[in-house]
Amino acid sequence: MDNLRNFDPDIYNAIQQEAFNESNRLVMIASENHVSRAVLEAQGCVLTNKYAEGYPHKRYYGGCEVADIVEELAIMRAKELFGCEHVNVQPHSGSQANMAVYMAMLKPGDTIMGLDLSCGGHLTHGSRVSFSGIVYNAAGYGVNKSTHVFDYDELLALAKTHKPKMIVCGASAYPRVIDFKMFRNLADEVGAYLLADIAHIAGLVAANIHPSPVDICDFVTTTTHKTLRGPRGGMIMCKEKYAAAIDKMIFPGIQGGPLMHTIAAKAVCFKEALYPGFVQYQQQVVKNARVLADELMHYGLSLVSGGTDTHLLLIDLTSQGLTGKVVEDSLGKANIIVNKNAIPYDPKGPVLTSGIRIGTPSLTTRGMKGDEMIMIGHWIEQVIADPTNEEMLVDIKHQVLALTERFPIYEWMWQEKAC
Ligand SMILES: *Cc1c(COP(=O)(O)O)cnc(C)c1O
Repeated sequence: MDNLRNFDPDIYNAIQQEAFNESNRLVMIASENHVSRAVLEAQGCVLTNKYAEGYPHKRYYGGCEVADIVEELAIMRAKELFGCEHVNVQPHSGSQANMAVYMAMLKPGDTIMGLDLSCGGHLTHGSRVSFSGIVYNAAGYGVNKSTHVFDYDELLALAKTHKPKMIVCGASAYPRVIDFKMFRNLADEVGAYLLADIAHIAGLVAANIHPSPVDICDFVTTTTHKTLRGPRGGMIMCKEKYAAAIDKMIFPGIQGGPLMHTIAAKAVCFKEALYPGFVQYQQQVVKNARVLADELMHYGLSLVSGGTDTHLLLIDLTSQGLTGKVVEDSLGKANIIVNKNAIPYDPKGPVLTSGIRIGTPSLTTRGMKGDEMIMIGHWIEQVIADPTNEEMLVDIKHQVLALTERFPIYEWMWQEKAC
């Protein structure tokens, strides 16, 4: 990155610092990952220059032959990976993907029924502060108050009351398998469209570790940057009969020119995901989450739903009398990066919260396995037991640094000579 270093040392140094931080910290944000160098190279390429409004061979600009090759490869690989009839790889983000599905199928004021933010849903599933709750009549559903998992009889009763035109299943903080067939029954009972948002679990779905919604739901949206380990972006899969409506709503409905450099990086990510090593990776992600969950429960910590089937888990800090905010800050001082997160029916609100969300995708990318999860579980337990013990936090940080040094990531980048 010599040109950047010479021309703009401020930005160059900031980027080096980010690479250094990712390398020297345990990134346990469940929605993050570390992409490959191939993905980074595709994302940082000249395709950022190209306007390619439209779709392959139906563009509104000249000179799009390379853009067509790139987008067609991304489409072909996504279809092979997920087995979908139709895919649109242009959404700039997961939020845009959801917006396009709603706008293609619904009218303003129609009722959507999605998982409440406080129970693990996403902003775009009907939160009052998001377009999804501003434009549409959002009727939320939750998890069962005692088990913290979905109770499909409760959901059916709610659906019959609210009569939504679209039901959204999928979550940002739900540690258990989602039964898409049960949601299909629900949608059929009330005549609603069914959208599965697999932003978090797309990698597990691609590897056949989590059941796929593709043949069951009308629409499947995802991000490409979470467990799927690609560039930051979104994607929509659907049945052929909805293809034209979805494509028209992405462009010209809500987006302009596609980010062709990002679509190139998505294609690279899909190619990586089609290798057998990707299945092993996802299996290890889930295995690591289970080992970590068992370790934390062994220390007496309470997990939402009592464990995990996926890449993430939620610690319930209620019995410790701690907020998620305090624990997030303390773990951060020990170079363990997590996020505070509401637990179902959290009395403390989204600023403080009573929980911590933890994921294993990034650590697994750098090669960590069960032995490392056991060490990390012990550190997390120590911090929760004594979150203001600054001396101990520094001591744990040194142990973290010794661990991260054994599992290098992006060292080729931050070890470049600073100017
Ligand atoms: C992350 C996420 C999104 C949105 O992703 P952005 O790319 O940040 O817009 C949508 N739905 C779910 C369930 C998510 O977890």
